[in-house]
Amino acid sequence: MAARILNGNAIRDEIYAELSGEISALAAARIRPGLAAVLVGENPASKVYVKSKIAACEKLGLASIQVTPPATIITADLLAIVQDLNRRDDVDGILVQLPLPPQVDAKKILDAVDPAKDVDGFHPINVGYLVAGRPTLVACTPLGVMEIFKRSNIPLEGANAVVLGRSDIVGKPMALLLMHANATVTICHSKTRDLAAVVRRADIVVAALGRAGMVTPDFIRPGATVIDVGINRITDAAQAEQFFAHVPERLAAFRERGTSLIGDVHPDVASVAGALTPVPGGVGPLTIAMLMSNTVRAAARRRGAQVPAAAAVQR
Ligand code: NAP
Repeated sequence: MAARILNGNAIRDEIYAELSGEISALAAARIRPGLAAVLVGENPASKVYVKSKIAACEKLGLASIQVTPPATIITADLLAIVQDLNRRDDVDGILVQLPLPPQVDAKKILDAVDPAKDVDGFHPINVGYLVAGRPTLVACTPLGVMEIFKRSNIPLEGANAVVLGRSDIVGKPMALLLMHANATVTICHSKTRDLAAVVRRADIVVAALGRAGMVTPDFIRPGATVIDVGINRITDAAQAEQFFAHVPERLAAFRERGTSLIGDVHPDVASVAGALTPVPGGVGPLTIAMLMSNTVRAAARRRGAQVPAAAAVQR
């Protein structure tokens, strides 16, 4: 039986509709949440990401500013930019688009962001609150995955959840959120032995590896929910033939364009899983939606307004 496809675009639209109400309520209290994006240099992928974040702000009526220092900037000067944004009262959220150039001490920069404005949820203080299960600003991608579970009525309590990947921005916060939601969580990484056997025990699989199509049907217990966080661009025709052998429309699109996006989950998993997020159109749209949500929440908290409590930590 084919998996239920969990449509990230539809969930994003639902979240935007709710956020619009919260943004109007804040506007009535003369508060317009503002997001500042720091984009260093000319990295094309970073430019695309920042552009979509600014576009989302505009769509929702949030204020946004972009700061675009050159790729040659040194740590001290970037620190000064962050400190200036920390001081500005019209800035509620600060995001520093990664990666930063090699001469910049990225940890120093991220640690300099005011935790109250840390809408990416990367600051050690916010990570600490997450570990403690206290409300805080949480990394957007795992937060978006939690919205997929909640809004698709996928039960987490008592479920065996396997998180593939242990990065600071996806794997670790994902595992913590699942644990706080009372799942039994296993975290896998490149040193995990017999990965497929570990993953096969899972009711819930979250794949955040950065390895195109690595999670094949033999990893998946029939009926499991599979969340594919990976975003990988493929250009190799032989790879495309193998990934899309049973998805003729995607193979045809690849042949036309010579490129395609694929997650960490092999498309054939759709024939085994109970529910599956597509790539594109699954987790991706939720990441930006949760950035908007974090910005609204940061604004309300910092300026003393009431909005519904952050959904970050569910017990
Ligand atoms: P990352 O920092 O490179 O971390 C990858 C993790 O996967 C590491 O923990 C690594 O293990 C593990 N891993 C890699 N190869 C493995 C293997 N063969 N077997 C077992 N574990 C393996 O990546 P990330 O930043 O978390 O991103 C992961 C993926 O999600 C990427 O494709 C990225 O583009 C995508 N992403 C998507 C969104 C979105 O909005 N949809 C947001 C963020 C990231 P070790 O720790 O042992 O090295």
